Amino acid sequence: METVDILIEDGDLLTMCGDGIGYIGKGAVAIAGNSIAAVGRADEIRKTCRAKRVIDATDMAVLPGFIDGHLHTVIALLRGVGQDARSWHVGMDPYFNHMTIEAVEAGAQISAIEAIRAGTTTFCDIGPAMPLVLPFYERVGIRACVCSLISQVPPVESTIRDGELLPFDEDIGRQRLQENIEIIESWNGKAKGRISVMLGPQAADYCSVELFGEIYALAEKHNLRVHMHLAQDEREMRQVELRYGKRPVQFLQDLGFLSDRLIVAHLIYCTDDEVREVAESGAAMAFCPSSLLICDGILPPADVFLQAGGRVCLGTDETSSNNGVNLFSEMKIAALAMKMKRRDPAFFPAWQALRLVTIDGARALGLDDIIGSLEAGKRADIILIDLQRPSLAPVLRDPVRNLVPNLVLSARGDEVVLSMVDGRVIYENGKIITIDEKESLEFIGRAAREVNEGAAEEVMRRKTPQYRFTVDGKY
Ligand SMILES: [Zn+2]
Repeated sequence: METVDILIEDGDLLTMCGDGIGYIGKGAVAIAGNSIAAVGRADEIRKTCRAKRVIDATDMAVLPGFIDGHLHTVIALLRGVGQDARSWHVGMDPYFNHMTIEAVEAGAQISAIEAIRAGTTTFCDIGPAMPLVLPFYERVGIRACVCSLISQVPPVESTIRDGELLPFDEDIGRQRLQENIEIIESWNGKAKGRISVMLGPQAADYCSVELFGEIYALAEKHNLRVHMHLAQDEREMRQVELRYGKRPVQFLQDLGFLSDRLIVAHLIYCTDDEVREVAESGAAMAFCPSSLLICDGILPPADVFLQAGGRVCLGTDETSSNNGVNLFSEMKIAALAMKMKRRDPAFFPAWQALRLVTIDGARALGLDDIIGSLEAGKRADIILIDLQRPSLAPVLRDPVRNLVPNLVLSARGDEVVLSMVDGRVIYENGKIITIDEKESLEFIGRAAREVNEGAAEEVMRRKTPQYRFTVDGKY
């Protein structure tokens, strides 16, 4: 009889194997070291192994940990200061101008804490200053797939008028690329393989053809994914048209960028034909419905992308434009918004939403060989969800099983009672056990106050919409 480290037994397993959700009632997962040793019916698994720790998962759903496929924690500290306005930037800029190193670190901390508590085990964090936040990810125990934002546009971008090209500064581009190279060299594969690194050109209007060429060569050399924004705003559409006489999708197609190495976020200014072209190229889509709805009032065209057979992951994008890092609420919003767009309640069923944050999300990010499903040999990134909470009761199993619709449309995230990454329990009984949460929350509060004090004069002078709402008594 084999001895394993942990045996999770008698739970409702959603393994996410096969084409659906891979349900196993009264199931068990055996974990040895950082990997899943066996998955199956509990009575069968118990016959083959003995565990150092047994977790009774009766009346609990057992799932692969959720994957947040696109987010920027760098500005997470600015939650709640940019929404309800035609331009998200108007409210955010005064705060951007007073960001501190501590605020960046605190943004990653508050994001990770909120996300872990809601079942997220993998973060796809995109942004500058990764060396500042990766030590925290290593310590808190989350899995992270990260890249820098590579851009060669100096900070004059908001003053550019219609008909003018954004200036490109080669030195800035080189410096940003170098930052991405440095995190590849010092972090890719670190934390026992929990940290992986991609390349992150910001968008088609932020890098020259030459810089894109260097990025592509590096991606090929190191066999890395490239993660970028595409057709994300009107300025990008105008700038690429003005500079190259073509639209961003055509620009990337001509550069040879559209391939299964690429992950693109948003696509909100693509035509349906362009969306299908990207999907058919093998590139994956990061779908961030809440953020784009709050920021732009636009639903990204994930329905078209999925119907074209494309790979899609779900992302929370930015706490400052979401306004959270909770994949349970993201699944619900994704499902409701797509049903509304298609005027079809059968469109994008709950099981499909659940696949986007597990196995299909892992496929989109190229991580499906190690995570995304409960399968022997994969890393043990697992969450347990208490099905006896009021928001999930009653649990029906036969003849209709209501588990999946309730996880997607009813759960709020606080029903997650245990979370492990790489076989290590990082969250249990309402506590993240790898860090001192209280200390972290105090640090987050201090960092936020400092940014707020710095930005106050500019907020009042510019009379941002959110400032006026506050003065008017609406906020
Ligand atoms: Zn983004």
